[in-house]
Amino acid sequence: MVVKVAVIGAGPTGLVTGMGFARRGHDVVAVDRDPGPPVDGSPWPRRGVMQFHHAHAFRAQVGDVLRAEAPTAWDAWLDLGGEPIEMPLPDGRTVTAGVRSRRETFERAVRSAAVGQPGLELRTGHVDGVTVRGGRAQGIRVDGSDLEADLVVDASGRSGRVNRHLRSAGIGGECGIAYVDRAYRLRPVASMPPMTNAVAWQGNYSGFMVLVFLHEAGIFSALIIRSTANRDLLGLKHARAFEAASSAIPGLAAWTSDDVAEALGDVLPGGPLLNVYRGQRGPSGDLALPGLVFVGDSVCTTTPIFGRGLATSLTQVAELLRLVDEHGCDVQSVGEALDAWDEARMRPWVEDHIAMDHAQARRWAGDDIDLVGRLPSDLILAAAARDPSIGEVAGPYLSMQALPGVLDSVEERARAVYRSGWRPQTDPGPTHDELADVVAEAVASA
Ligand SMILES: Cc1cc2nc3c(=O)[nH]c(=O)nc-3n(C[C@H](O)[C@H](O)[C@H](O)COP(=O)(O)OP(=O)(O)OC[C@H]3O[C@@H](n4cnc5c(N)ncnc54)[C@H](O)[C@@H]3O)c2cc1C
Repeated sequence: MVVKVAVIGAGPTGLVTGMGFARRGHDVVAVDRDPGPPVDGSPWPRRGVMQFHHAHAFRAQVGDVLRAEAPTAWDAWLDLGGEPIEMPLPDGRTVTAGVRSRRETFERAVRSAAVGQPGLELRTGHVDGVTVRGGRAQGIRVDGSDLEADLVVDASGRSGRVNRHLRSAGIGGECGIAYVDRAYRLRPVASMPPMTNAVAWQGNYSGFMVLVFLHEAGIFSALIIRSTANRDLLGLKHARAFEAASSAIPGLAAWTSDDVAEALGDVLPGGPLLNVYRGQRGPSGDLALPGLVFVGDSVCTTTPIFGRGLATSLTQVAELLRLVDEHGCDVQSVGEALDAWDEARMRPWVEDHIAMDHAQARRWAGDDIDLVGRLPSDLILAAAARDPSIGEVAGPYLSMQALPGVLDSVEERARAVYRSGWRPQTDPGPTHDELADVVAEAVASA
């Protein structure tokens, strides 16, 4: 039976959901206030999605879900320049560990595939609310007009407010960490500086952290990450200060020095970063509204440092599609089963980030490692430098094949490492106070 589906939001989650339903023969309308990329190829402003222009890393799960549920989007991504990262396995096979791409390249590809998807209509408009009949969703109201649907999918992202009043408060909030980033392109003659893993280079310093995410065609983003409580590094949003800081951090200078790369645009100050989980339920504990389901960042958003957002979002889309295949129009069963999946498979990542980010901000402020509570996951992994047996479970956690709970089995071993007095080494470079001086001097001389 054909189900009429209305999707609120045509970001990556809404579009892949829409394509998945349309490919199953359902009748789908996805509504977004953003009209999509300009047809003349000029930059896509994408107001309302602050992360659109920021650095993104794409995990294997993103490609896996696209290939299964929206193969034309996968093909379009490769055509636009997305570079799959092929990793050899010990048995001779290769796996795709992720895709090197900018967010804009990725989203343009998904959007162009969605435009060509029979059965999926993209409409520009503002969704004012969900219409209700007989205690269940019966459609959406778009700029004052009603659109009937058997199932409403809220893919309105981390800032979506349209159905906020129907939902329980959830867990989490601002994560306490902020960053600025800037895009660069490697010069053709330059050789690639060292990477920490297939997607990124990471430097850990006293009071801050640095990441480089590699995108397509030699383009990369450099991020300097700090605690929001620490305002001394706010000046990094000025290009001159960012450049002075990059030169002062040897591992970052290896990427950004003038002979290695050219800057592609302004320094981008990040907005507030969140660790928030809201499932499918309302304040009473029942489903927020039968016939209305929430997907993507509207359910789960995590600090971007680990680049998990699109992996959790699209994996959940695949599960929603599977549940509708199984339960059809029984929207109560779909909502209940999706909530159970969210609790089991999304919430643990948010809890993991809340614990890690809180502890990281405290350590950046000068606290020692807290050996009483549960060790945060990043510290468990860091202890593998001292006790390599801890590293055995690192791979499945880092690739998100296993949930954070997989680290429980080695937590005590990590605690023993820290009890011995060992602490993770920082990389060669300035302390936070030294970097703050560099920033202040650059801002003053601007
Ligand atoms: C700074 C930052 C960096 C990130 N880096 C990474 C990374 O490296 N790797 C990674 O995997 N993830 C990353 N993420 C997370 C990733 O960006 C999100 O997971 C992703 O955007 C989720 O897609 P979405 O479609 O659910 O939401 P969004 O992309 O936010 O899309 C929601 C859409 O809904 C529309 N909308 C909302 N309300 C309405 C309404 N009432 N009417 C009409 N339209 C509406 C909006 O216009 C928007 O188009 C990052 C996030 C941030 C904040």
